[in-house]
Amino acid sequence: MSGVRRFDRDRFRWDGVPERVYKFQDAATSERGLGWKDVVRNTLFGKDGEPAAFEVRYFEIAPGGYSTLEKHHHVHAVTVLRGTGDVVVGTQVHRVRPFDFVYIPSLVLHQFVNAGDEPFGFLCVVDGDRDRPQPPTDEELASLQRHPEVGQVIRR
Ligand code: MN
Repeated sequence: MSGVRRFDRDRFRWDGVPERVYKFQDAATSERGLGWKDVVRNTLFGKDGEPAAFEVRYFEIAPGGYSTLEKHHHVHAVTVLRGTGDVVVGTQVHRVRPFDFVYIPSLVLHQFVNAGDEPFGFLCVVDGDRDRPQPPTDEELASLQRHPEVGQVIRR
């Protein structure tokens, strides 16, 4: 790919970008605490031989959907483009909307939850070479579930 990828406002997608499932899922994924619901991933940049150490992805979470509650060494730089979401970052919840920017630091538990009745979409820049997401430990999960704000938002 070179030059411009045109944005199609009707589809809210960039032309020529294949839609993929968010990430691998099977029965064991949920059992290990890495469940997610109604998320699609469109990789705009970085998977096509470009000489860069990062990728640019567009994620979209349908109403009622959520990303995995996870942590990892690599960081996320997120820009919201569509809808309303609740973003858990450690022990904080942030209500976000277009064009809020979110930084997810290394090894901080995080989750993106659609908080509205339209798609919640955001760009996410990450390292191309990155470590695998880990679920919260039992202690971390229990602590988050007891938290007055985070406990209302997290999904599994
Ligand atoms: Mn993540």
